[in-house]
Amino acid sequence: MSIFCPHCGREYDVTLFQYGRTIECACGRRVGREVKVRSLYRPQRPEELRFMVDVMLGRLARWLRVLGYDAAYQEGIEDADLVRLSLDEGRILLTRDRALPTEWWIDNYLLIDSTRPVEQLSQVVRRYGLPWRERLFTRCTVCNEPLDTLDRHQVLGRVPEKILEHASRFASCPVCNRVYWQGSHVDRMRRRLDEALKGREGQEGEREEEPEE
Ligand SMILES: [Zn+2]
Ligand SMILES: [Zn+2]
Repeated sequence: MSIFCPHCGREYDVTLFQYGRTIECACGRRVGREVKVRSLYRPQRPEELRFMVDVMLGRLARWLRVLGYDAAYQEGIEDADLVRLSLDEGRILLTRDRALPTEWWIDNYLLIDSTRPVEQLSQVVRRYGLPWRERLFTRCTVCNEPLDTLDRHQVLGRVPEKILEHASRFASCPVCNRVYWQGSHVDRMRRRLDEALKGREGQEGEREEEPEE
């Protein structure tokens, strides 16, 4: 099967356009082929959305995981793999690369505006109407795995005594075994997110916050 340039009629083999890849024709026109993936990545509820996060957005990926969302991220991943995985796994591609929608004809992406992680997160939450309050700290921020809930006795010796006294809920990652607990840092982050996601303007020179573990 062939694809023809709509401008000059040059013929190209269809395999050049896998995963929505486009090429620049000798005449200067971008030639591509639409990929039909809408049904794949459009789940019934926003809670089911999954994301593929571009290389420059590692901190956004961690924030999405803090909110309980499945956000795949690979350091140094090539664009081709990024696009392929997002299509194969039905993930919405989050990127700051403005050339990407030209180089690939894909429709399951969001161009991220801000360079600040909390504003980036706010953009994604608004765009897709993501509920987040009930889902905080249900996923490992390092491995992107859903956490297993643990009883108090299961974390004996795995967290400091002081935390055992004050924290109410515990969970651990089945992959890396990190233990997470609900304590004062969770309340702080919840307040911080409440402010950020309500759209309150950040103050000049405000420091960026990192997801805490
Ligand atoms: Zn052409
Ligand atoms: Zn983990």
